[in-house]
This record gives sequence, C-alpha cells and structure tokens, in this order.
Amino acid sequence: MWQLFKPDIAAYVKNGLIWFSPQSGKLLSLCPFLRESKHAGEPNKTFYTCDIYYDRPEDCRFYPVTVKQMINDECEMLQEGDLANPQQAQKDLDTLLKESRPSYD
Ligand code: SF4
Repeated sequence: MWQLFKPDIAAYVKNGLIWFSPQSGKLLSLCPFLRESKHAGEPNKTFYTCDIYYDRPEDCRFYPVTVKQMINDECEMLQEGDLANPQQAQKDLDTLLKESRPSYD
C-alpha cells in the first residue's frame, strides 16, 4: 500500500524490511519518521511524535504486545506496580489494547 499511496514512506523499505536509507541503502539506527519536539507549556521537556502516525507500520500500531517487551525497551509507560507484578500488568495491557489489536479468530 505504501508503494501505491505513500511512495515517500516506501522509499525507506528494502526487501519488505524497515527502515533503510533511500540514499545509501543502509539500515538506519533510528526511525526516520520519529520527530523530536518541544511543547510550549513545558520548554524543558522533550516530546517525540510520529510523522506518519496514520500510516505507521503494524508493528508500531500494535506495540506494546508484552510487558516483557516494554521492560526490554525501557518503555516510559511502565509503572512501578507493573514491575512488581508483571503477570497482572500483562492482563491489564491485554485488556487496554484489546480493541486495537488484530483479531485472528
Ligand atoms: S510509531 Fe513507528 S513509524 Fe512512527 S516514529 Fe515510532 S517507530 Fe517510527
């Protein structure tokens, strides 16, 4: 779909994998669509946004899938209680994301 409708995004895909430099063909260490910004109300805080939010890959849409993945990624959405009881945190995460994950039924 990106090739048809979003060639600017498709330019960063190589052999079905993301994200590669369109110029060098090398694997990028950071997503090219991650944008750092400041909020007027909190000038000392850095925020990150996605330039292709509505066209982002499925991996991004369904992240995070597991609490373990969040721990590995040092996800800032983790809370202290999640680390103390990861099984309950996983149940909570599954409930929270139930509507946004694909159904394989
Ligand atoms: S959501 Fe995905 S596409 Fe968007 S900035 Fe993050 S890693 Fe990149």
